[in-house]
Amino acid sequence: MVLDVLVRPFEQPAWGATQWVESIGQQIGGNGAGTSYSIAKLGVPVRLVSETGSDALADTILRTLGSVNVDLRWVRRSPLPTPATIALVRTDGARSLLHSPGVSGEALSEPVEITSALLEGCTRFHLANVFGLPKLRAHAADLLRRMKEAGLATSLDTGWDSRGEWMSTLGPCLAHTDLCFVNEDEARWLTGVESHQQAARALRDAGAGTVVLKLGANGCALFNDSGETRVPGFSVPVVDTTGAGDCFAGGFLAALQRGFSLEEAARFANAVGALSVQALGGITGLREFEETILWMASQNRV
Ligand code: ADP
Repeated sequence: MVLDVLVRPFEQPAWGATQWVESIGQQIGGNGAGTSYSIAKLGVPVRLVSETGSDALADTILRTLGSVNVDLRWVRRSPLPTPATIALVRTDGARSLLHSPGVSGEALSEPVEITSALLEGCTRFHLANVFGLPKLRAHAADLLRRMKEAGLATSLDTGWDSRGEWMSTLGPCLAHTDLCFVNEDEARWLTGVESHQQAARALRDAGAGTVVLKLGANGCALFNDSGETRVPGFSVPVVDTTGAGDCFAGGFLAALQRGFSLEEAARFANAVGALSVQALGGITGLREFEETILWMASQNRV
């Protein structure tokens, strides 16, 4: 759970000078926060297990998540600072990020206790960016295994590994993962291969059931026992791509929860991602479920 401060437009620093920009705004960010916000916004109940600070930044994040009814009872408040990111956004939507991990450095250091209260009403467990929480790395695979044993469908979003451990951390998780979300850069770093097909095969060989490869403006591709299914994206004007992948994963999971097939969920997730990139910050452009469906229909007619 991160507070993002978005500065736009920003081309390059000018040390010793003050540059005026169009806007500086704050948004919730972080893979877990963005994904759970989008699931809840789409009308599907979601419970977040996480840690945040005790400062005003955390208050802002929790207020935003609470506004769409994310269940926050399992979010622990720590005396450590809330993670924050300054996102410098270029006119073409590209971004440069400055990140202070704060409580993320210590969060979820103890194995999550799986109680009947925690599981109540749940059918899925989604692990957001394990690489973002260093202390979780050691027991992430075990957490997925225990959730699967408890009868939940499992998914994870790989995220970016700034420590460069990649497959040595993620590999053991994949054996307990039904659905693996990964973008093109992450897939390349995880597997060491350029080709989408080979990267997906390597992730599936490590145990992932279905690999969902996010392809930016090109949408996504599914890889599973049925082979490869390309699901084209929506052509939209891009303002900011921060958090699009988090919203995409939330859209995908919310659609599955509503009974969509994998391919339908992928198309719906592409729409959620495309709505996200049209506004500053990950979640600002998101719409409720019915509105998203209407937006998709309007795009089809173009
Ligand atoms: P991440 O944000 O994790 O790096 P992507 O950049 O691939 O992943 O974005 C996630 C999803 O958001 C894509 O699969 C796509 O559905 C949607 N998306 C991203 N960029 C665009 C874009 N420029 N136009 C339309 N949809 C986009």
